[in-house]
Amino acid sequence: MIELKLAIVGYGGMGGYHERELIAENERVTVKGVYDIDEKRIEEAKAKGLVAYESFEEVLKDDEVDAVLIATPNDSHKELVIKALNNKKHVICEKPVSLCSEDVLEMDEAAKANQRVFMVHQNRRWDSDFLIIRDLYKNKQIGDLFQIESRVHGANGIPGDWRHIEKHGGGMLLDWGVHILDQLLFMIDSPVKSVMSDLSYVLGDEVDDGFITYITFENGIRAVLEVGTSNFVKLPRWYVKGLKGTGVIYDWDLSGKIVVQNDLDKKTELIPIKAGEGFTKTMAPPSEESTTTLDLPSPSCEYESFYTNFSRVVREGATPIIKNEEVYNVMKLIEAIFESSRSGEVINYMKKYDCCSC
Ligand code: NAD
Repeated sequence: MIELKLAIVGYGGMGGYHERELIAENERVTVKGVYDIDEKRIEEAKAKGLVAYESFEEVLKDDEVDAVLIATPNDSHKELVIKALNNKKHVICEKPVSLCSEDVLEMDEAAKANQRVFMVHQNRRWDSDFLIIRDLYKNKQIGDLFQIESRVHGANGIPGDWRHIEKHGGGMLLDWGVHILDQLLFMIDSPVKSVMSDLSYVLGDEVDDGFITYITFENGIRAVLEVGTSNFVKLPRWYVKGLKGTGVIYDWDLSGKIVVQNDLDKKTELIPIKAGEGFTKTMAPPSEESTTTLDLPSPSCEYESFYTNFSRVVREGATPIIKNEEVYNVMKLIEAIFESSRSGEVINYMKKYDCCSC
């Protein structure tokens, strides 16, 4: 039941991943061919029996191609996306959609003017670790969440070539930052209130090699987000605090736990512990009967896969799981993070950044 023929533009790390891991498993979509400026990539495509296009224009002229995936470096997305839309192709674009929020509006307008679908691949909305935290937020198993810490730590610096260069949209805020900010805004059903951030340049690149940002929401939730590329010891991927407990997910292997406060008739007497050169009751571990430790729940996802959704949006007018206004709002937040880091000030987000209705 193939419904969509796709051409991949940019057959590098992520373009190849789409073809091997995402599209190969989806019966509604198939890859017809590939265009890349690198001859090596073209040879790889030919070896797989795919059509090797000689130019982007040739892709756009192929009437059998319904949709185009743009998986090139970040600074090239806008031009390629708008050109494809103007040539009546549906378009998937890799994240980050582009380099600024204004670009999203232009891309969205081109999609509307040509009556074509334009969706950004925010694939980490399907990550199991995120789905578990999103469930905790919604089902209140540890009470209302009031603090969410989301971290991605590595020790390999900035990878690749173009990711080191500002004009290509390099840096970690536009790379991993986009993912974890998208997850946060997708989960929290409340407007952002304030933003405070600090980008890191410890590796000496012209672009950020990580960042820490502190975001507050109107509903009182506080979030700490961090990306680091020189972290030889990782902090947990997620650490969340609710009014009745705490949850931790250490890594993508989903190791972690939930500790929930028990409803006890009377409070147990706190026993002080020795702490360094002093003692403390405040920081003593809770008594055995006052908490229960549970395994993390299994991840559950109520929405379909990215490519099934994309093909249903194109063919049946289904609602996109990733909406362009959400993508715009993430880019706005990224702009506030850059601004806060530059100025050293807390950004009053409600006052300065209005949200979009693309
Ligand atoms: P990459 O360098 O491995 O691949 C990019 C490819 O694009 C290269 O083969 C290059 O030759 C080709 N290219 C460059 N300019 C081109 C042009 N004008 N026309 C055709 N081909 C061109 O980079 P990558 O890691 O695959 O990243 C590509 C995009 O995918 C980036 O936007 C990146 O942020 C995104 N990405 C997303 C995820 C995710 O999880 N969603 C993961 C990795 C990368």
